[in-house]
Amino acid sequence: MAQHPLRFWRETKFALFLLRVGGMGVVGSVRKELMKMRSDTLTASRMAALLACPRKHYWRYEVGLSAAVSTGALRFGSAWHAAMECRWQGMECAAALAKACGGADSFTELDVATLSGLLAGYYARYGGEAETVKTLHPEQEFRYALDGSRTFDICGKIDGLGVLCDGRLALVEHKTTGDSLEADSEYWQRLRFNPQIYQYVLAARALGWDVQTVIYDVTRKPMIKQKQTETPEQFGERLAADTRERPDFYFARREVAVLDQDVEEFAIQRLELSRLILLLRAAGRRARRPEHAWPRNCGGMTCRFCEFCVFCMQNIAVDPAQPPAGFAVGQTNPELSGGVRGRLLG
Ligand code: SF4
Repeated sequence: MAQHPLRFWRETKFALFLLRVGGMGVVGSVRKELMKMRSDTLTASRMAALLACPRKHYWRYEVGLSAAVSTGALRFGSAWHAAMECRWQGMECAAALAKACGGADSFTELDVATLSGLLAGYYARYGGEAETVKTLHPEQEFRYALDGSRTFDICGKIDGLGVLCDGRLALVEHKTTGDSLEADSEYWQRLRFNPQIYQYVLAARALGWDVQTVIYDVTRKPMIKQKQTETPEQFGERLAADTRERPDFYFARREVAVLDQDVEEFAIQRLELSRLILLLRAAGRRARRPEHAWPRNCGGMTCRFCEFCVFCMQNIAVDPAQPPAGFAVGQTNPELSGGVRGRLLG
């Protein structure tokens, strides 16, 4: 029998409240209940994949396919986030580095040296500076029903929910980028319309945090490279020295206001994207091969960075039960505690 919408809403709010106050480790039974709410999930990265290339979205989120070894950029980004979380917990630089590297899958010596050099620079850059954030609750995971959908839950993980020194509530986002951090860089304009942020703002508000602003804490990836004559350790030391010499090149923090109009527009687009997924999924059931229903967006900026390029560009048919060499079918969101399996093999 269908649940009364009001009762469903009350139970959802209660479960979210328990998630908020209980921490993620002690609410397994509640989470299991939440996991039952919808059969599918919609994350910011899933929406980004759909917008970038529907075919990529199909392989990653419908099938649950991914490269067995994550890319260097992905590994580094995860380790950087882990290091930032350690810093907010008050750890010294060396301890934060050790913790971040310890959790990093397949980290090379050069990865460790790069992380070490950047992290040393970050600590030096902000070490003596008064923080604008008074208290921070790092790594807040969320999951709740998408309003207007019977299929999708919204889920993800917020880098940090913070209370600023002036009392306002804020999202704190740590980012790494290859773009310039100059004040007039286009990077900052793009961040303002970053769908991930709106997803997090709406989630924070669902968790009872009426966030009004976003603090972006951005670190630029190194532009210098290891020399042939250098060991990884020597490169790490040179990088650390470079970050201390020109800190504004590598590190920037900026506050971006959250405009209600932008958030409302995002909520409409998000619902439309969830409907688009259902539409293409239904078309896939009628197609000779289900992937045919999900158009390719071939382009330099999409295919060059796509993990599925090796078989997609050859038009090779993939059997999800026997993934191509170097690929595995598994969780679509391994960074989330619930994981979430690919739909086809879930
Ligand atoms: S290789 Fe290009 S067309 Fe194929 S899935 Fe990736 S981005 Fe899409």
